[in-house]
Amino acid sequence: MRMSKMHFKTLREVPAEAEIPSHILLTRAGMIRKLVSGVYGFMPLGWRTLRKIEQIVREEMDAAGSQEILMSALQPSELWEESGRWYQYGPELFRLKDRNDRQFCLGPTHEEIFTDIVRSDISSWRQLPQNLYQIQHKYRDEARPRFGLMRSREFIMKDAYSFDLDEAGLDKSYQDMYDAYTKVFTRCGLTFRPVEADSGAIGGSNSHEFTALSEVGESEIAYCENCDMAATSERAACVDEVPADEEMLAMEKVHTPGTKTIEEVCDFLKLPKEKSIKALLFVTYDENYEQNGYVAAFIRGDRELNMTKLINALDIPEHAIEFADEKAMGAVTGAVGGFTGPVGLHDCTIVVDSELPAHKNMCAGACEEDHHLINVNYGRDYEGDIVTDLKLLKEGDPCPCCGKPVKYARGIEVGQVFKLGTKYSKAMGATYKDDNQQDHDIVMGCYGIGVTRTMAAIVEQHHDDNGIIWPMAVAPYHVIITLVKQDDEVQAGVAESLYQELTSKGAEVLLDDRKERPGVKFKDADLIGIPVRITVGRDAADGVVEFKERAKEENEKITAEEAAAKALALIAAK
Ligand code: ATP
Ligand code: MG
Repeated sequence: MRMSKMHFKTLREVPAEAEIPSHILLTRAGMIRKLVSGVYGFMPLGWRTLRKIEQIVREEMDAAGSQEILMSALQPSELWEESGRWYQYGPELFRLKDRNDRQFCLGPTHEEIFTDIVRSDISSWRQLPQNLYQIQHKYRDEARPRFGLMRSREFIMKDAYSFDLDEAGLDKSYQDMYDAYTKVFTRCGLTFRPVEADSGAIGGSNSHEFTALSEVGESEIAYCENCDMAATSERAACVDEVPADEEMLAMEKVHTPGTKTIEEVCDFLKLPKEKSIKALLFVTYDENYEQNGYVAAFIRGDRELNMTKLINALDIPEHAIEFADEKAMGAVTGAVGGFTGPVGLHDCTIVVDSELPAHKNMCAGACEEDHHLINVNYGRDYEGDIVTDLKLLKEGDPCPCCGKPVKYARGIEVGQVFKLGTKYSKAMGATYKDDNQQDHDIVMGCYGIGVTRTMAAIVEQHHDDNGIIWPMAVAPYHVIITLVKQDDEVQAGVAESLYQELTSKGAEVLLDDRKERPGVKFKDADLIGIPVRITVGRDAADGVVEFKERAKEENEKITAEEAAAKALALIAAK
């Protein structure tokens, strides 16, 4: 491609809302173009890279035995009613009506559509297993679209769905997808880690996220250097601390004026935080978005609540719960602002962290202004409607598998695999018949890769102050030939024959023949991140050019023939 003919515009200014390198650099390099918040288009260079990532995904999915199809992004609400997700998915679902008032959504994911295909096409065990995928735009009305391609409202996802006879079949399908994902992200040049994950609104039992390690990532992962435990912070189990046994003492009410926080009351009573119980108060909503109850969660004073664990314990969607207005909640349940404890609370669901029952003689709010209770004991003084692990695992806490202190890292979730089991096949009647004409639910898995997010993750891991450094496998072009003086005949001749030579050998080459100053050309080449730059300048008269890899500092003068051979070798090695 001759750059003089390419639709190409770089930006000197950093867009105001761009906070992270991938957003800044992809925009500045003119690879992506924002339409509105969370909605991006792809310009020629960006589109080429995106298609290369898609192609890697496609090749690995095909190799793993999955078949590509393409379904509509527009989905009728009826299918979502059948699975129960029309309500459950909540405000992230883009909903719309046709002229006859029929409800639709723009697919955020396609479990319902694929289950519908399989239930109508598959009847016998002989037709299974099956694995289908597509690469397509997805739509999610994210609460906070940000970071460019990282969290957008329209994005490209590869989604695959497996259909098996039984759990053993699903285990194999899941492992095949897990292995394919490992190959995809390796080929994309990412440093990543598969970690155990929560299944969220999709449902199912077992899940892994593929996390590209990055400081700007929104996922937090806990991992252990001593064993192979690695999980998202949402998912990570937390070890209950078992304190030394104590005699239960008589419960007492104490005057604790103005001590609304755990710090204040523990300071005031000279107690360690481990001796206190912290209350977190929530209101929940029903399917019509009407308030339908209150929830009080109790954890030890030094712990933090893991919201995902609480939502899972309550078995409600994420959007059906929020922090309660304390006054309103107090009128119904007896809760009192910073003085709420489990004793004396009524008419609400009490969820108690699993480590509290073993903790004797604790301090908790008295449900009375300026008062706390001491020597509060589980079983004798209060009970939970639900007792479960609610704790957020923190850096340095004991590993749930081996007990050694855990480490934390940040990352970008680029893909996720789920064992769905029979959640969708049961709800939607996707069954197969065995040899005795007995019906069985099909056992399903689903597997997503954020293709556009992967593009952003690659930039996060491969850039410097001057721009992007694309790995060869996903670079929009392999080589850029920078022609220093486009009106110098000798230089232009050498550049042109290098261009022809490389192109004829299968290299993807950009020839910067624009009427621009050399400085501009060098800056642009660095910004758009083409892996190999061959500069044709003054030495062209002697057949000599400058060869530089974008990822390396050094720069060498070699003959045009040597430069071509070197570039081709680097391309072949990808
Ligand atoms: P997140 O937790 O980041 O919101 P998710 O777990 O809801 O993502 P999945 O339903 O697992 O996402 O979707 C599969 C993949 O699609 C994700 O692993 C991610 O790479 C990508 N993805 C999800 N939401 C977005 C988004 N808003 N913008 C870009 N990519 C996304
Ligand atoms: Mg996910």
